[in-house]
Amino acid sequence: MNLCDIGYVKRLMSRHQTGTKKSFGQNFLINKQVPEAIAEASYSYHLSRGQKKSLVVEIGPGIGCLTYELAGCYDKVIAIEIDKTLLPILDETLGEFDNVEIINNDFLKMNLEEFFGAYREEYDISVCANLPYYITTPIIMALLEKARGMLTSITVMVQKEVADRLCATTKKGDYGAITASIAYYGEAKKLFDVSPDNFLPAPKVTSSVVRIELYDKPKYKVNDEQMLFKTIQGAFSQRRKTLLNSLGTSLGNISKERLGEIIAELGFDASVRGEKLDISDFCALSDKLGEEK
Ligand code: SAM
Repeated sequence: MNLCDIGYVKRLMSRHQTGTKKSFGQNFLINKQVPEAIAEASYSYHLSRGQKKSLVVEIGPGIGCLTYELAGCYDKVIAIEIDKTLLPILDETLGEFDNVEIINNDFLKMNLEEFFGAYREEYDISVCANLPYYITTPIIMALLEKARGMLTSITVMVQKEVADRLCATTKKGDYGAITASIAYYGEAKKLFDVSPDNFLPAPKVTSSVVRIELYDKPKYKVNDEQMLFKTIQGAFSQRRKTLLNSLGTSLGNISKERLGEIIAELGFDASVRGEKLDISDFCALSDKLGEEK
């Protein structure tokens, strides 16, 4: 069965009296090589790191084309789909697998600590998804913040410009708050691009597959994580401004003069912008800011 055959997808949806929904970010893959490559990118990393049984959690299985590939590799697949009209379709397309469980829920409303916590002893857990574009950043941030320490990797397809942001460095790319935040938890790698003609309906922009390889244990030491993320958010709160001006506005309790001294103590010029600081610079800055009362 080829779940990416465009004729098959259209007939299946019409037989189940449903269609693709823009409101749920539904752009289904119609080239089998793409879900094969995404599943391979996820599972090969599990093989290089995993020691226990393998579990992959997929967000948004759609009609099940990526789920199908994941079910062929992983010991267990749990796929969370918000659109209940797709459930009878998934029963049909994935009926041959006894290692697949479908949950009808909004991923962003789930208690992720509890959900992932229930499997962490028995399984090495990966996340893999062709993400709905309208909630890419909230999903990635929720995974990093709530499932930290419980995941091996997150392999996701996102819009190319988002991928460039996730994988930027202080020297290259569109570095922002999410870039620095991801760097605290792991390393984001852009793997390959996917053109619009691989989707039904075709989106307006190119997509890219990114794998975030998560650290087992925190790599960077920081006194107060909340302060770190407040510092990162503050540094990018006003895109075109210097670090001094952005932080001066967002952290009201420290004078600009003192902020300038702290930035200089870290070895940066007064005109530096947030995108020049890597995650270890942000940790050092946050520790210094935390000492100020
Ligand atoms: N995996 C399929 C594929 O690659 O063809 C579908 C990917 S489509 C881009 C995104 C999927 O996420 C859709 O099936 C959509 O209904 C689902 N979705 C959207 N928002 C969701 C949410 N908050 N929680 C769970 N699933 C969601």
